Amino acid sequence: MPASVPPLRVLVAGGGVAAIETVLALHALAGDRVAIELLAPGDEYVERPFSVRSPFSGEAEPRVTLEGLVALGVVHHHGALAAVEAERREVRTTNGGRLGYDRLVVAPGAHAIDGVPGSVTFRGPISSGLVEGAIRRAEHSLVFVAPAEAGWILPLYELALMTAHEFPDGPDIRIVTHEPRPLDVFGPIASDAVARLLERAGIEFIGRARAVEYVGNALVIGEGDVIVADAVVSLPRLTGPRIEGMPADANGFIPINANARVVGMSHVFAAGDATTEPIKQGGLATQQADAAAEMIAAEAGAVLIPRPYRRILRGVVLTGERPLYLRRDLDEAQEIIRPLRGVPPGVSRTQLWWPEGKIAGRYLTSFVASGGHLGAPLSDRPAVP
Ligand SMILES: Cc1cc2nc3c(=O)[nH]c(=O)nc-3n(C[C@H](O)[C@H](O)[C@H](O)COP(=O)(O)OP(=O)(O)OC[C@H]3O[C@@H](n4cnc5c(N)ncnc54)[C@H](O)[C@@H]3O)c2cc1C
Repeated sequence: MPASVPPLRVLVAGGGVAAIETVLALHALAGDRVAIELLAPGDEYVERPFSVRSPFSGEAEPRVTLEGLVALGVVHHHGALAAVEAERREVRTTNGGRLGYDRLVVAPGAHAIDGVPGSVTFRGPISSGLVEGAIRRAEHSLVFVAPAEAGWILPLYELALMTAHEFPDGPDIRIVTHEPRPLDVFGPIASDAVARLLERAGIEFIGRARAVEYVGNALVIGEGDVIVADAVVSLPRLTGPRIEGMPADANGFIPINANARVVGMSHVFAAGDATTEPIKQGGLATQQADAAAEMIAAEAGAVLIPRPYRRILRGVVLTGERPLYLRRDLDEAQEIIRPLRGVPPGVSRTQLWWPEGKIAGRYLTSFVASGGHLGAPLSDRPAVP
């Protein structure tokens, strides 16, 4: 880059999956063509998916300090985004500060609110004690519920399977969900594999069901049907962050295009659970972040052709025994010809991507696996030694 061209000033707001992936991707793709600043409240990245183990093992979820990003030259502003003033290319922070930008990436996640009134809501790390209590309270029957507006349903299956594994003589376990089949989003072959896991564990699957509330010891379903349960654990409903100065749909989520650019805002991008993408999953959040980073890197002068966001779902189901790995290309039109084209399988008892991680991101997974350092990008094939 000629010395006279100043770097593009990129401000990333958020401290979770999408924000960290954006920072790492920008660093890898644009180098010193960009000056990266991070506006995040905390000093750590918390890997929430492993919190499903906490009610059983008491194990804390992995955390990675953001120091590794600072070592790359990223400036970390402690705080939170309050408003975007697009015409001035400035943001306001919740403590009254102002920060300018050339490009802004907004990744504050979603808000989790109770999904089924009366039940115990599993929100991740902070809920492990409550969930443990509910499981222990359930002498005869325990129900795990996914409301229709839950973001990512896989953790519910993990909680049910691990409960069955930990307490083989424990309560009857049911999963109540709006899905037609178990983890339907991964396609029929993977769904069948999950159904077999549930069957073997003695867990009853009740699909196409809308749980309304849990009162007394009754879980009320749809048109007044009732399931008797000693305890009910549910996933939360997610709502969008509604940031002043940014567009939002009726639920507060930010609309973006295929390159993660916010609709109607030429210098602003958004990624992750905060966007209108209906599947709120960490892997998809990183893929949106990568699309935003590629576009910004190109606008900063890096030689690359920015690709639109392509949704490849990768999921690990923790069971208490060997995990189940699932993979599905949601934007692949003809899944039937996958094996012929050497595309990796969609369901396996062995690892399907490297390095291993519950959240599969091109740069984030190795950053987390190495405790906050740069590593090899995610691959669907093992590294050749
Ligand atoms: C229990 C559980 C298990 C899960 N399991 C999996 C899994 O196995 N695989 C998978 O891919 N996904 C999984 N998910 C989903 C995944 O965690 C989310 O989709 C992902 O974290 C979304 O990333 P994000 O960056 O949009 O939001 P988050 O990761 O929620 O990060 C948002 C960040 O922004 C910060 N923030 C909030 N407001 C502001 C603001 N105004 N300004 C600046 N910063 C702000 C927050 O402090 C936080 O650091 C799981 C989720 C849960 C709860």
